[in-house]
Amino acid sequence: MVKEELRFEAEVSKLLDIVAHSLYSNREIFLRELISNASDACDKLRYEALTTPGLLDGDGAFGIGLGVDAEAGTLTVTDNGIGMSREELIDNLGTIARSGTQAFVERLSGDQKKDTNLIGQFGVGFYSSFMVADRVEVISRRAGQDVAWRWTSDGRGGYGLEEAARDSRGTTIILRMKDDAKEFLEDFRLRSVVKTYSDHIAVPIRMAGDDKEPVNTASALWTRSRNDIGEEQYKEFYHHVAHAFDEPWLTLHGKAEGVVEYTSLLFVPSSKPLDLFDVDRKQKIKLYVRRVFITDDCEGLLPPYLRFLRGVVDSEDLPLNISREMLQHNPVLAKIKSGLVKKVLGELARKATDATDDYATFWDNFGAVLKEGLYEDFANKDKLLELARFRSTTADGLVSLADYVGRMKDGQDAIYYITGEDVAALKRSPHLEGFRAKGVEVLLLTDPVDEFWLPAVGRFGDQPFKSATKAGSDLDNVAATEETPDAARSEEAPAPQVERLVAAFKGTLGEAVKDVRVSHRMTDSAVCLVADDDDMDMNLARMLRRHQRIDDDMPRILELNPGHPLVRRLAELADGEATSALLEDAAHLLLDQARIVEGEPVPDPAAFARRLADAVRRGLA
Ligand code: ADP
Ligand code: MG
Repeated sequence: MVKEELRFEAEVSKLLDIVAHSLYSNREIFLRELISNASDACDKLRYEALTTPGLLDGDGAFGIGLGVDAEAGTLTVTDNGIGMSREELIDNLGTIARSGTQAFVERLSGDQKKDTNLIGQFGVGFYSSFMVADRVEVISRRAGQDVAWRWTSDGRGGYGLEEAARDSRGTTIILRMKDDAKEFLEDFRLRSVVKTYSDHIAVPIRMAGDDKEPVNTASALWTRSRNDIGEEQYKEFYHHVAHAFDEPWLTLHGKAEGVVEYTSLLFVPSSKPLDLFDVDRKQKIKLYVRRVFITDDCEGLLPPYLRFLRGVVDSEDLPLNISREMLQHNPVLAKIKSGLVKKVLGELARKATDATDDYATFWDNFGAVLKEGLYEDFANKDKLLELARFRSTTADGLVSLADYVGRMKDGQDAIYYITGEDVAALKRSPHLEGFRAKGVEVLLLTDPVDEFWLPAVGRFGDQPFKSATKAGSDLDNVAATEETPDAARSEEAPAPQVERLVAAFKGTLGEAVKDVRVSHRMTDSAVCLVADDDDMDMNLARMLRRHQRIDDDMPRILELNPGHPLVRRLAELADGEATSALLEDAAHLLLDQARIVEGEPVPDPAAFARRLADAVRRGLA
């Protein structure tokens, strides 16, 4: 059969160009990527052979080989894993099945070391061969098939595909090394790269012509004793399983021996993985059964709110030939899951108390995800509430709910919070002025998930959560602090005048507001908008509107601060009858101002501009 010439997908070409011409540092990682693929290929076949033993064709001893031909200047990486069919070669090596490459190209920083590290992270590992080789040949035969295929490319836009000969299943990758990459043809250099990056690979890696000892330790890392594993080895393993290149923030390695027996090696990353907020919310732990890889897509293994964890779980009790579908409902799996959750939450609690600063890093990365558990995992709600940390109006760092409750004022009967998009804007909110005056702490919540767990959870211990923006938040029972004595109230406009003003505003604003009323929650602002007790919180309404989940604007309550000089003056005018046009303008202007401060849109910006100009002109006259 003749050789076909095919084009790479445009994204692949772009990527290859960068890989081949711009990345010079840390090039040795190409070997880690090829070995990692070879090891994955062995894992895949081992799994498929559970149900189709014929695929092994009598050869169940998996291995990876490295060979050098100094004369030809080539390095060969061979495995007897699952291999690739013609279609698989095209799909896996010629197209970008995942969106990873696009994201990779966008994230290139120009810093070569960082960019090289990005390669593995985005699953474009195979292409890293072109950092060191100017021509790559892949000869592969899919287990169970008779034909083999040769894929060849110089990484410049296309590749050739033709039938080839291969005695048995597996994949051979032949790299023709660039002139400046000949160092990777040296035995010593190769061994040291393998030792550094691939020691944890469970399949033995051997140098060709040397059938003695494998270069790597070749036993699954998690089966070894903790005392025999160095931090570096844990780190390399984490990089391998997680496709990540940060340091693990936390490493949890242990064996559960009880009703169910399993080993787990879990990592909490030190930075946010890119897929953290993907809609599928899939957990990412790899499941093994007695050292055989089963799946990295096992829904029942961890709850979605722990999806930031990476690593492996190896069960002694699950049947080997269990299908991925059957796994979901397996009682052993449910036990493993609750064991893992318990272990992880326990360890996080320990970090939260023993290493506060370090825990803050974790919380900033994954707090928003962990909080999903507050309404999804009711059994662990209390533990999760203890793990939760918040920004607040009175503390610089993060506070726990126990801290907050310990600081509550006499007469305060709720944990107050306010939700919004960012802490700085929230801190300026007029709703908080009264709280600040009374020295009452308010939690500042900025994660979308906060709108969901708060109503579901309702309280922490004896204390209910209450939104500071809700009309009912009443601070009258809390004693005033010394800096802001209640005497400030004496400067308020006289009640009958204010009543007239309120009536005039109500008449003018009509349906645009739900109500107009006097309030003591402000000290510096003249007005603010609040949601009625039973209405949806304003931040939640904004969020839902943005996602087109609701489209109507519900009218809010406009609150007036009777102590504010502007309100006092307007109240005087309201008493004087004659100036209704001016009062009408003032009503609209103040409502629009309250909307702006709240981050709500102004429905009629032209009218707002006209009224503002009129008011300023009158002021200048
Ligand atoms: P990733 O390993 O993250 O999927 P790679 O670029 O490293 O990305 O590899 C792309 C795909 O090519 C793999 O997912 C796999 O399907 C296939 N592949 C690569 N090397 C091998 C191999 N040695 N044996 C079988 N399949 C392979
Ligand atoms: Mg790979």
